Amino acid sequence: MTAMFLYLTSSAQLTEKIKQEAAFQTKYAFELCKHLHQNPELSYQEFSTAKRMASELEQLGFQVTTNFGGNNVVGLFRNGEGPVVMIRTDMDALPVEEKTGFDFASIKRAINTEGSEFPVMHACGHDIHMSVWTGTLRTLVALKERWSGTLLVIAQESEEVSGGANKAINEGLFQKFPIPAAALAFHINPELSSGTIGLVEGPVFAGVKTAEITVYGKGGHGAYPEKSIDPVVIAARIVIDLQTIVSREIDPFEPAVVTVGSIHGGTRPNIIPDEVKLELTLRYFSDETINKIISSLKRISAAAAQMAGMPEDKLPKVVILEVDTPPVINDMKLAKQLEIFSADIIGSENILRVKPAMVGEDFGKYGYTTEKIPTSLIWLGSSSPELLARLKEKGQTPAPLHSPYLFPDFEVTIETGIKVMTANAIGLMQKNR
Ligand code: ZN
Repeated sequence: MTAMFLYLTSSAQLTEKIKQEAAFQTKYAFELCKHLHQNPELSYQEFSTAKRMASELEQLGFQVTTNFGGNNVVGLFRNGEGPVVMIRTDMDALPVEEKTGFDFASIKRAINTEGSEFPVMHACGHDIHMSVWTGTLRTLVALKERWSGTLLVIAQESEEVSGGANKAINEGLFQKFPIPAAALAFHINPELSSGTIGLVEGPVFAGVKTAEITVYGKGGHGAYPEKSIDPVVIAARIVIDLQTIVSREIDPFEPAVVTVGSIHGGTRPNIIPDEVKLELTLRYFSDETINKIISSLKRISAAAAQMAGMPEDKLPKVVILEVDTPPVINDMKLAKQLEIFSADIIGSENILRVKPAMVGEDFGKYGYTTEKIPTSLIWLGSSSPELLARLKEKGQTPAPLHSPYLFPDFEVTIETGIKVMTANAIGLMQKNR
């Protein structure tokens, strides 16, 4: 009884301590956020951002490794015996022209890897992710008497193009550094109020694969269709028949998407071309579903060509591109623990259930290595409740991620993020818990 009482008292004190320190560190993190917001950098070009993240870690006494696969920055902080907890932020911005009207709005432009110039904006909230990450680490170091274990942190490049996580993993993240018992990350969510978080147990973000289908035909004069086999007609059939994969072949309770995003073939109205190319994005949550989708793509494409009379050696070529993003699946046990720690700090009324999304996030890759690290991605509410209420009255929704009008409620979002991430990390590494 007494021991329990003492535990509760010290736990309530700790919660208070985290709140105070997080509020204090929010000032610093918000200033950092404004700087990052004004100085966004495109994927693969996060040079000054990475430098800044590395210097933030050095100031805190982390052992820092820069250029760990591209611009990735890895930090290690050993604080006694205990579990290793990984916290990840992403760093890249988008080729979007900011239209928010913030006094610290970005006016930056940059030349991308293909040589074209673009305006650049942190339109996906990675500036907030970095500020919360830094603020959390500052809070954790300030409170280092209250936990015991090792922090493995990564500021990751090129999330938007699904490049950075792979580079860190291939560089040996889990061989050259201690293997984490849990890996955590945030993503802002403009549909949720600042001050709240969204927790999901199980699937959060879909897996993404890209497919290319080359449909062959027998080219000829548009006026002599009988002397040709028209790949435009075969491709049109394929596009329509592919729609039956999700609607007829996949379990209705299993989310999946097959979208043909581009179709190209032919040069002139009166020429039947030799080939047509289709490009597809595929979204899924389980290996079984994606394997089924891929085998159906091949079967349907081949059947359409056979039906048109194409010989067996000229059936459509289906290629699944190497670059892919596995689904982000929150570990059930970890998500339940985080819910308890988060409720302690922001109240269970501020923890919302959120549906999985069909977009991709390369954070999932950290959970898909042979080490099978339990991962959890937490949604961080980022629109002020007033803004959401005003929009709702008008039947509107907030500007989504990647919008030039993305309008986060910076300070509250950052403070909530720091509180929650600190409480989670300490929860997982608390002494005598
Ligand atoms: Zn993002």
